Amino acid sequence: MSVEEAPCACVVVAMRTALRRRWRAAENAGRPLRRTLAQATRLITQITNGRGSQKTLDGLERLCPELALLDAEAADALSGSLARAHDEWLCHAVDGTCSAGVCFLPNVAPCRAACPADIDIPGFLAHIGAGDYGEALRLIGEDNPLPHSCGLVCPAPCESACVRGATGSALFIRPLKAVVAEQCCTVPSPRRSPSGKRVAVVGSGPSGLTIAYYLAMRGHRVEVFEAREKAGGMMRYGIPSYRLPAHVLDAEIAHITRAGVTIHTGAEIRSLGALREKGFEATYLALGLQLSRRAGILGEELPFVHGALDFLASVAAGKNPRVGPRVVVIGGGNSAVDAAMTALRQGARHVSMVYRGRRKEMRASPHEIALAVAEGVEILELWTPDRVLPDNRVIFTRSPKATEAERRGGEALTLKVDHVLAAVGQQAALDCLAGSRVEVKGGFIVADPVTGATAEPGVYAGGDIAHGASTVVAAVQAGKAAADAIHEYLTGETAAPQAEAVPAPLVEVDAIQRSVRLRPTMPERNARERTAGYHTIELGLGEADAKREASRCLRCDVCIGCGLCELVCSEVGAEALRMDEAAGGRMVFTDFTRPATSCIGCGACAAVCPTGAIKVESDTSTRTTSITGTVVCRQPMLTCESCGEYYVTAAQFDRVRDTLPNGENMRHLCPDCSRREHVAALQRADEGRLLALMGR
Ligand SMILES: Cc1cc2nc3c(=O)[nH]c(=O)nc-3n(C[C@H](O)[C@H](O)[C@H](O)COP(=O)(O)OP(=O)(O)OC[C@H]3O[C@@H](n4cnc5c(N)ncnc54)[C@H](O)[C@@H]3O)c2cc1C
Ligand code: SF4
Ligand code: SF4
Repeated sequence: MSVEEAPCACVVVAMRTALRRRWRAAENAGRPLRRTLAQATRLITQITNGRGSQKTLDGLERLCPELALLDAEAADALSGSLARAHDEWLCHAVDGTCSAGVCFLPNVAPCRAACPADIDIPGFLAHIGAGDYGEALRLIGEDNPLPHSCGLVCPAPCESACVRGATGSALFIRPLKAVVAEQCCTVPSPRRSPSGKRVAVVGSGPSGLTIAYYLAMRGHRVEVFEAREKAGGMMRYGIPSYRLPAHVLDAEIAHITRAGVTIHTGAEIRSLGALREKGFEATYLALGLQLSRRAGILGEELPFVHGALDFLASVAAGKNPRVGPRVVVIGGGNSAVDAAMTALRQGARHVSMVYRGRRKEMRASPHEIALAVAEGVEILELWTPDRVLPDNRVIFTRSPKATEAERRGGEALTLKVDHVLAAVGQQAALDCLAGSRVEVKGGFIVADPVTGATAEPGVYAGGDIAHGASTVVAAVQAGKAAADAIHEYLTGETAAPQAEAVPAPLVEVDAIQRSVRLRPTMPERNARERTAGYHTIELGLGEADAKREASRCLRCDVCIGCGLCELVCSEVGAEALRMDEAAGGRMVFTDFTRPATSCIGCGACAAVCPTGAIKVESDTSTRTTSITGTVVCRQPMLTCESCGEYYVTAAQFDRVRDTLPNGENMRHLCPDCSRREHVAALQRADEGRLLALMGR
């Protein structure tokens, strides 16, 4: 591999990556090359970690001639970069700045960075590992008041970002949240004293519930107005109860009302002016997108054609609408899949989902599609709805995306159906904005993407109504951010800048358990059993499974994945640590068993680790190496032949002895005694010289 092959906007990171790969590829090379490559990479890593200096740069320059004798190409690349991009290297090493904006960023665990609600994921996983569910729930609750619901339905972008995914399966974070909520229903909400301010929230979906909760926590009097009979928004009236049971939602809403939020149901708000007249000083619009978008085809007003949202809401409201036996669902998103699977539970015998693109392009999650197929839903790809006829026929034409070969199979498709469910999108009902200054664009409220502020002072908006159809956790994030903004609007107090997060304590996890690469499988009810009713499809992870799974977390909040420890371990010749490269050049430990046989307990790794993630500690007679809570090596120590203190491991003693020219004569002396003996020997020599001088 060429040393130049590491494209990155930052030249320093590019060189670090290239040299690290070079070092990795030189696994079986001689010691001098391996050591020199490791040293060069370590020095660059120290620079990109913000621990560089002019001295580090000088060290790199000095290393080039030595490297040139061992690997001319690597040395050329390094010295060339140091010369060509001298200013950039200097800025990195001395000023701690990176013109590409790649280095010196705050360290956030990748899963947490990907979570819209910014949940401290490694923290709550650690509390699960320690069996402290109350603390886990408290930590999640700081950022999301709906942990159980999210634990059942969140698409879990955190899992897609988890570094474990690079070498096995990502942590199964979503269901672990549900386990926390099951194990520990609620934790007391710490409320501030009343502020005397009143806030109206329109809509009780996840966004409205979230802002209501966090504003109530700050002492404001919050009233939520909900048009429907029950609170919950699309979590209740969209997502079917086989994925999110009503009792789970009820319990979370009860926790929110216990925190001081008043929810008025069956209370549609028709004008914002009415809220002002009632004395509310601020309003949050969390209206969601309640209407099914029309498919825009001939015949869609026929009585057997329904919007998927109306159908799902009718089922959720307990109206028990019957359909079938033949149902066609138009669309390929999550609503389409939910409508298709719900139709099977409402009387349909044969359900076809017809989509204009290919199955792999459907917006619904592949797992949800697979569940639907397992229940018997037929997927028809590449058909565009054309018209619905009064005699219950639906005509589709070939999608423009179809290939010539696919077209030859037929240009039109006719399905004879009893019901059509159109799941082609959602739209908002915005009548309540009439007479206000709130702006609307493309059917959504125009709101500041960070604060949710609209064009009307004191009126904020968030969730689907502002960012478009999205997810529960995105609605939670919007509500949380707007809570900060409304609090500031009401009191002038800005949200306290986030203090440097203190990582949750490390949990002791066995090295073999920590090295498990695969996640557990979620047990699910079989298709026949589940279509008989609305029992949850997922059976959930048990507590023991949850604890085991949580213990696979690599604690990226503590170990920043810089890889310095692995490099310095190579420099000392032990090669006891092995890491894999995950996205963004982050290094991750995945094998916690290797050090047991090769760690020499020298402590070089702990000395270079910038975060204390790796530790080498001695008690009286044992030296223990641990990585983020997992003991990876424990070895007895040898005693000093002079003072009798334990001071070194046998492996380290042997390694030092082997590197010295007359190593076989090396004595068992601790550093203090060795120094004392050395000084004494010097003194004896001096005395001898003095006596000789005086005698002369
Ligand atoms: C079928 C379906 C399945 C989904 N599946 C998932 C999933 O698996 N995972 C996931 O994360 N997300 C899923 N979503 C998306 C998710 O439910 C939404 O993104 C989320 O609920 C949006 O929250 P919200 O608070 O903005 O609005 P909503 O949840 O829509 O809540 C808005 C509330 O405001 C009320 N309201 C509106 N106007 C007024 C008014 N004038 N006065 C009083 N009340 C009013 C409505 O009645 C409603 O209760 C799904 C959505 C649907 C439709
Ligand atoms: S290993 Fe743990 S901390 Fe690291 S990304 Fe995955 S869940 Fe987050
Ligand atoms: S243990 Fe320390 S030195 Fe090693 S990768 Fe993690 S943070 Fe870096």
